[in-house]
Amino acid sequence: KSFEELGLHGDLLKGIFDMGFTKPSKIQERALPLLLKNPPQNMIGQSQSGTGKTAAFVLTMLSRIDFSLNKPQALCLSPSRELARQIMSVVAAMGKFTAVQTEYAIKDHLPKGVSHVTAHIVVGTPGTMTDLIRRKVVDVSEVKVFVLDEADSMLDKDGLGDQTLRVKNMLPRGRPIQIILFSATFPDHVRAFASKFAPDANKIEL
Ligand code: AMP
Repeated sequence: KSFEELGLHGDLLKGIFDMGFTKPSKIQERALPLLLKNPPQNMIGQSQSGTGKTAAFVLTMLSRIDFSLNKPQALCLSPSRELARQIMSVVAAMGKFTAVQTEYAIKDHLPKGVSHVTAHIVVGTPGTMTDLIRRKVVDVSEVKVFVLDEADSMLDKDGLGDQTLRVKNMLPRGRPIQIILFSATFPDHVRAFASKFAPDANKIEL
């Protein structure tokens, strides 16, 4: 399948081709049709880095944003600042031809003097994300996609699994939120966490 056949918006196709990608990677080809389905469905994906998983969830976030609404609509958690920065660079590149605005929720990069984040996508680590939501700097009332990348690394770090669940519990109930979890490995504790975090998910293994 080609990127065109996946039903992606023209502005996203431009970003994809501008990055030099010509066809979807295997994980993209398998995950994107499920990720872009309506009504949105949760997904648990097993995928190593290097397979193109970042683009799969970034394209999903970008596809679901209403760019005329200047409120956070997609949140993405990563276990480290470095990974948050890498994800953000993919958002910037893929969203180059869209009006997407982004913000970090990482400790050394707090939105300075900002009382209210107006970005569409917020990417960061669980502790800082919790803090910003609690202080209402990040308003989650319009969030419709919630991504957890590298769940296995997240659970390896003290307390980050609990903080991730705390962020999820701060999201509004009673409106559908698409939950996407990626992990390179699925030992029992990751599997148990994943089914709690993303109930009724489609599962994809590579
Ligand atoms: P990731 O698994 O997200 O860490 O991505 C691994 C690498 O694959 C990154 O350097 C991407 O730029 C690259 N990549 C992702 N999707 C594609 C694609 N469809 N075609 C070629 N390269 C890709």
